[in-house]
Amino acid sequence: SSIFAAVEMAPRDPILGLNEAFQADPRAEKVNLGVGVYYDDNGKIPLLAAVKAAEEQRLKLAPPRGYQPIEGAAAYNKAVQTLLFGTDSALLDAGRAVTIEALGGTGALKIGADFLNRLNSSAKVYISDPSWENHRALFEAAGFDVGAYPYYDAATRGVNFSAMLAALKGYAAGSIIVLHACCHNPTGADLTLEQWQQVVDTIRERDLVAFVDMAYQGFADGIEPDAAALRLFADSGLEFFVSSSFSKSFSLYGERVGALTIVTADRDASARVLSQVKRVIRTNYSNPPTHGGIVVATVLSDAGLRAQWEEELAGMRDRIRLMRTQLVERIAAAGVKQDFSFVVQQRGMFSFTGLTAAQVERMKQEYGIYAVSTGRICLAALNSKNIDTVAKAIASVIA
Ligand code: PLP
Repeated sequence: SSIFAAVEMAPRDPILGLNEAFQADPRAEKVNLGVGVYYDDNGKIPLLAAVKAAEEQRLKLAPPRGYQPIEGAAAYNKAVQTLLFGTDSALLDAGRAVTIEALGGTGALKIGADFLNRLNSSAKVYISDPSWENHRALFEAAGFDVGAYPYYDAATRGVNFSAMLAALKGYAAGSIIVLHACCHNPTGADLTLEQWQQVVDTIRERDLVAFVDMAYQGFADGIEPDAAALRLFADSGLEFFVSSSFSKSFSLYGERVGALTIVTADRDASARVLSQVKRVIRTNYSNPPTHGGIVVATVLSDAGLRAQWEEELAGMRDRIRLMRTQLVERIAAAGVKQDFSFVVQQRGMFSFTGLTAAQVERMKQEYGIYAVSTGRICLAALNSKNIDTVAKAIASVIA
């Protein structure tokens, strides 16, 4: 008999399954609000001019394609650290941060999770309720038992912070807390800086381990302000983990460019940690690919290209904001009495609209507008051509 006889069909990934259904839909006016990808006003994934310039430089140089070091390019890792902790960082000066180039933010989370599991496989991991749909599966795949801390409050469309803090205070020492640094996915609801400080204090008091996931630096208020929560961790003296990604901020989704940064107590601990993380990488994929990391490092280390990138990133951020205000205006213009102004307060690419699964289904059936059944929509998939259709469809299904 076949060695695969007992293999069952796995459930489809909810978001990628949505894409397949969208592709198969013949309606010309269809809209896909499901994926977490930034599209420009023409509905295209942009190739940033700064990226194109760096790629052209590299093509001209035609460098040989040797292996990278296990931890990736030093220039890239250094550039990541500066984005996370700033140009003037006591933590970096003290050699307390170890950064490795990873295969996207997902790869960074997985290497971090695998390493943490080697340190303490009986620790429990807590993610936000709700969270990015891959967090739970990823930490479970690394061997952890995964729970969730209270986060979103549907009644206020904000964070139920007192419940979150109370939960954190009840977790066993050594528990791993996965936090979204900014632009919470899927809710768009972030903590205030004062609340972040309380989280940092609680993590210290209860001896918890923070794993800060930063997939959207630059999508809320800008590179520096979006790192504010992370800087509180940096100033706290705590040891912690950071996964970061350039998928969105450089529009380099398919190149898989991310990084894992581990903050330790001192330079000596950093060296020991790096040596062990390299073993995790070596037995997974040996060393990272070259292209994406070099492109990002080239842009970040050249003053002109960096300024150009920041401008392009601001352009993406501003367009998403414009889509937020216009969506709210147009839903109101379509005669809806319910207040949708919360969409403007939410940050990052997503909005938790409050649409029910049944309403989302009607949007799909009647209008060819695809969204996640939780009511999450990607604002970056709206544009000047489809926003009216979407606003009218929302107005019609909630009427
Ligand atoms: N973490 C969060 C919260 C995300 O939303 C995403 C991507 O959607 C990732 C991590 C993964 O990023 P990447 O595509 O770089 O693997």
